[in-house]
Amino acid sequence: MNRAIPFLALLFFSCQDGNIKRAINSITSQEMGQDIMALSSDSLLGRAPFTVGEERTVAYLQKRMAELKLTPAFEGSYIQSVPMVSITTMVPNTVDFTTPKGALKLKTDEEICLWSPTIKPNIKISSADLVFAGFGIDAPEYEWNDFAGLNVSGKIIVVLVNDPGFYTHDSLLFTGNAMTYYGRWRYKFEEAERKGALGCLIVHEDAAAGYPWAVAGSKSNTPILYMDSPELNNSRCVLNGWITLDAVRKLMGKCGYSYDSLKQLAVNRGFKPVGLKACLSLTMENRQTKSASKNVAGYIAGSKNPDEFIVYTAHWDHLGIGKAVDGDSIYNGASDNAAGIAWMLSIAKAFQNSGERPERSVLFLSPTAEESGLFGSTYFVQHPPQEVGRMVACFNYDVALFLGKFSDVTITGPGHSNLDSLLRLAAKSQNRYVISDPNPEIGMIYRSDQLPFLKAGIPSMFAKGCIHQTELGKEKTQELINKYWLNTYHKPSDEFDPTRDNLDGLVEDARLFYDMGNRLTSWNQYPKMSRTSEFYNRSR
Ligand SMILES: [Zn+2]
Repeated sequence: MNRAIPFLALLFFSCQDGNIKRAINSITSQEMGQDIMALSSDSLLGRAPFTVGEERTVAYLQKRMAELKLTPAFEGSYIQSVPMVSITTMVPNTVDFTTPKGALKLKTDEEICLWSPTIKPNIKISSADLVFAGFGIDAPEYEWNDFAGLNVSGKIIVVLVNDPGFYTHDSLLFTGNAMTYYGRWRYKFEEAERKGALGCLIVHEDAAAGYPWAVAGSKSNTPILYMDSPELNNSRCVLNGWITLDAVRKLMGKCGYSYDSLKQLAVNRGFKPVGLKACLSLTMENRQTKSASKNVAGYIAGSKNPDEFIVYTAHWDHLGIGKAVDGDSIYNGASDNAAGIAWMLSIAKAFQNSGERPERSVLFLSPTAEESGLFGSTYFVQHPPQEVGRMVACFNYDVALFLGKFSDVTITGPGHSNLDSLLRLAAKSQNRYVISDPNPEIGMIYRSDQLPFLKAGIPSMFAKGCIHQTELGKEKTQELINKYWLNTYHKPSDEFDPTRDNLDGLVEDARLFYDMGNRLTSWNQYPKMSRTSEFYNRSR
């Protein structure tokens, strides 16, 4: 048992006094509906960064934060400029490999997708060796190192997506079927860069990646956003990409290997990288445009520990204007994530309505560019306001379901900190039960703004009512959720209709997380990362 649990229980012995009840009751569906309506209206043009839609969204957020009497977080301003650069890598129509059995041409986009995360305008790769490096994972806590004895300098590594636990279903390998950060594509590229590889190619398999080739393989010749940082000037890893399962089978076949046999070897501890005797020569051109987008944040200064912060986050950006569906081309993003902002602002209001200042500070951050790679939250964690001495905890909200009250509180990616135990105690006061994400293999925990906070070792949580609408029961709820992912998520029909949509569940989630955060503001301890979290070593 976690030693902190008795202390957490103590935190909940104090019953809710009148002030807290008033604060909780100030969270209403009516006001949340107004925020969702405003933020998902057509006039905001789908809230894409760098557009008029951004200007209007940011203006609305500033106005609301001022109404809520939040202190501007950035030297008198609610705005933090986030420098980004958009890079389009122009890749030839075919990519040529030299193998022991002759040349192999792979079709760009159809079989292989490549891009270069560097601001160098011209990239020339001459006869770079390919090495199969298993999962491309170096994880000391799991005693796993796919790079053992391998010098990757000047080489292109070919790696599997996800982690060994996923392929073997062995619950003792990593976290079994549940994805760890080591399984995410982003980690593979980061680790390849840290190891000094010239390039990294990830093999795309539908189930292991969690999405189809159409999603992974659409990045050549299209703009990709990056944080504008000096590292892009001299990045060692100049080639990132995905390769289809069929294409990698062909490639390895021409090198005298079977992909499936190599994969079998790679799921074993002690696997040694395999040189493929193939090499790649390629010339690419990078075109870049620099631009800045905006994070928006305000806070309530703590009365006793003003330099310690509880952070709430809900990203403001969405997909903007895109391909029309049924004559509608505005991707309004009502559930993703106008609703999250309403959740966050209603919690800010509750803190202001409690009648007393919290002991620790509470900050409300709406990051930009979540959809394109968690850039706003990443930048914020790297460049927090000067008042921030320590971020004690972070609570994020993303993608609401407008289905009414839920009996569950589902933790997306549980086990990272003892906030899980705190949530169990808090959920009881709403007669709700806490469960773990039913689909941990797709790694949803690594896909929203809690990730940069976790990566910095800050106990963070993303939890909401998700699988059991109280009146409908689990089965019917699942049916509606499947429909949501199919017809509404990231589509122009993600709109808000107050006559159809029920915000009672969102209200409950806001009340729950106000309660959680409020208790943390006066707790005489800090929440702690779990030893089993892959980010434990980054915590203090
Ligand atoms: Zn979202």
